[in-house]
Amino acid sequence: MDEELLELKKQALQEIANAQDSSEIVQIKSKYLGKRSQISRVMSSLKNYSIEERRTLGQICNTIKNEIVEALKAKNNQLISETSYSIDITMPVDEDRGSLSPITIVGNEVCEILEKMGFAIVSGPEIEDEYHNFDALNIPSTHPARDMQDTYWLGSHKLLRTHTSPCQVRAMEKYGAPLRIAAPGRCFRNEDIDASHENTFFQLEGMCIDKNISIPNLIYVMKSILSEIFDQEVQVRLRPGYFPFVEPGFELDIKCLICEGAGCSTCKGSGWIELCPCGMIHPNVLRINNIDPNEYSGFAFGIGLTRLAMMKYHINDIRVFNTCNLEELEQFGIV
Ligand SMILES: [Zn+2]
Repeated sequence: MDEELLELKKQALQEIANAQDSSEIVQIKSKYLGKRSQISRVMSSLKNYSIEERRTLGQICNTIKNEIVEALKAKNNQLISETSYSIDITMPVDEDRGSLSPITIVGNEVCEILEKMGFAIVSGPEIEDEYHNFDALNIPSTHPARDMQDTYWLGSHKLLRTHTSPCQVRAMEKYGAPLRIAAPGRCFRNEDIDASHENTFFQLEGMCIDKNISIPNLIYVMKSILSEIFDQEVQVRLRPGYFPFVEPGFELDIKCLICEGAGCSTCKGSGWIELCPCGMIHPNVLRINNIDPNEYSGFAFGIGLTRLAMMKYHINDIRVFNTCNLEELEQFGIV
């Protein structure tokens, strides 16, 4: 019996030494230490032996078991460390594998342009509190604008942010005035999903506060950003638009890049495409955030990064972005 067990140990240690990967280690463990293994059978038959034999045999079994366990552990560690360092960093990179999301690409481009103009890139939490998402932006709980921004409430006045505008508030709290920030990020609305509506989308918030900031500054910055993004001179126009945190508020349109203003299906015959809301920061918003509106003024804008990516890559269905369907993304040359 002793010799049989020693032979068994020899065989087990040999197999462990030859193991190529972790799955083999698992198999060997089951073979030699599992319920149906020879060692287990011997252990369960010990009761048939005399006390003396039981003790000797039991000790041998335990020693062999421990040796096999230790050998398995050591081999497993060795395999793991070899795997970690077996990556050949000199191998050529497969350049066709993967790419950034079109939204990330567009977002990075806009951030780069804004950084050149002195804007700091900041971020804020996607789970916001009611104060930062609404109240501090001049949208108290009784305001009808809250209905237009239905979202997912998480209890305790927490919610999934409906826009990147809370980043304005957090930046004002942290840095005060003067201030120039841009905040790209994910936003959420309780929307029914179709080709042009999503419950999850991306915006980029921009805000500039300083002395003597006025509407021409806003127009200049917007025109510069958009001309650089579309790689051509774009014409913009402002239409009055209502947003509680700006006064006056505007909808910014760009002249349709496809028909150059003549009218086509993309611009629904108008020659213009609505691109982003913007305006002069409401004095109440400055005041709530401890900035004196008599001393400082500012403008803010919210660029729809998802919409921008759709325009840039000619994607006509917003659902493509969140499906994670590589085949769909590949057709736009993105992946
Ligand atoms: Zn057009």
